Amino acid sequence: MSQQLLTLIDQLSQTHMLSEEALLLLLREHTPVSDGYLFALAREACGSVYGNKVFVRGLIEITNHCKNDCLYCGIRRSASSTVRYRLSMEQILQCCENGYVMGIRTFVLQGGEDASFSREQLVEMIQTIKENYPDCAVTLSLGEWSADDYRAFRMAGADRYLLRHETADEKLYASLHPAAQTFENRMQCLDDLKKEGYQVGCGFMVGSPGQKEEHLVRDLCFIKQFQPHMVGIGPFIPHHDTPFANERAGSIRQTLFLLGILRLLNPRLLLPATTALDTIDVHGWEKGIEAGANVVMVNLTPEDERSKYLLYDNKNRANDRVTAGKNKLSERIASTGCEIAWVRGDYKYD
Ligand code: SAH
Repeated sequence: MSQQLLTLIDQLSQTHMLSEEALLLLLREHTPVSDGYLFALAREACGSVYGNKVFVRGLIEITNHCKNDCLYCGIRRSASSTVRYRLSMEQILQCCENGYVMGIRTFVLQGGEDASFSREQLVEMIQTIKENYPDCAVTLSLGEWSADDYRAFRMAGADRYLLRHETADEKLYASLHPAAQTFENRMQCLDDLKKEGYQVGCGFMVGSPGQKEEHLVRDLCFIKQFQPHMVGIGPFIPHHDTPFANERAGSIRQTLFLLGILRLLNPRLLLPATTALDTIDVHGWEKGIEAGANVVMVNLTPEDERSKYLLYDNKNRANDRVTAGKNKLSERIASTGCEIAWVRGDYKYD
């Protein structure tokens, strides 16, 4: 068996694809030995495209108001214990300035689906950031909008868009979301974003309630076919004020394994070691990078508001460990043998 696993990993590393049966077998049977082999090949593949560089993004959580009701999420509409906030334009620009001084050249604007932010307001926000920081990339992570809205944001200067597909299985999607939020629309949005010329990120949670290995195979096949520029994955972590409060969290082991597989499926991917990964393990970032990730996100949200943007419990445990400043961050990355490139860090097309 163990030889068979290594052979499959070799095959993935050489061809960047694998059959559904082979992926399922690996997902079920991978061992510490096969993981070690996978991670070494994943790092090598990443190195052949991006060298030993890791890109840093500055995350600005612009609002935790949300009209949606995703069953897993701590800022869902029905989470009545969540105290709501919305950053002003001045606050957002101050976050950018703080990040710029640190050396950050990508700002990620993330938020709940806040109906009080209009298309026009967001266009103005993006334009203002791009005027003030023309050498920086702007990434949006603001959920589902129409193709026209996405076009307007893109024309205003947005470079990238993160919209996790959450799961590529329609039934599982329906069990994680209320009926008004359809799988079809999520997928339509991803297609629209591609057409508008964004660098697009999809992604999923690992270990979400009801998820089986077969669902993860579907995620991997979807990603192979959709060809995103970025993939965000992290363990599901329960939030106390959601219907999934008592569910089990996803595992670090399965998340790291999937990072390695994703790196080999597309060596060019921008693949973050996510905050959720760093929340379930004090060395989540380092382990993620060692498994093939090449992006980390630092939180630039003002502290008062940051403590209210709790997608899952203990989220700021991870934030607190890195806000100690640039040095701490550099040290953590250096401990993996990689180093931070203080650049925009776009997808490398060739
Ligand atoms: N409203 C935006 C941003 C969502 S928050 C959007 O719809 O895209 C960003 C990501 O956090 C989500 O896509 C989801 O995958 C993840 N997330 C939400 N709740 C989580 C939880 N309880 N555990 C782990 N990840 C979670």
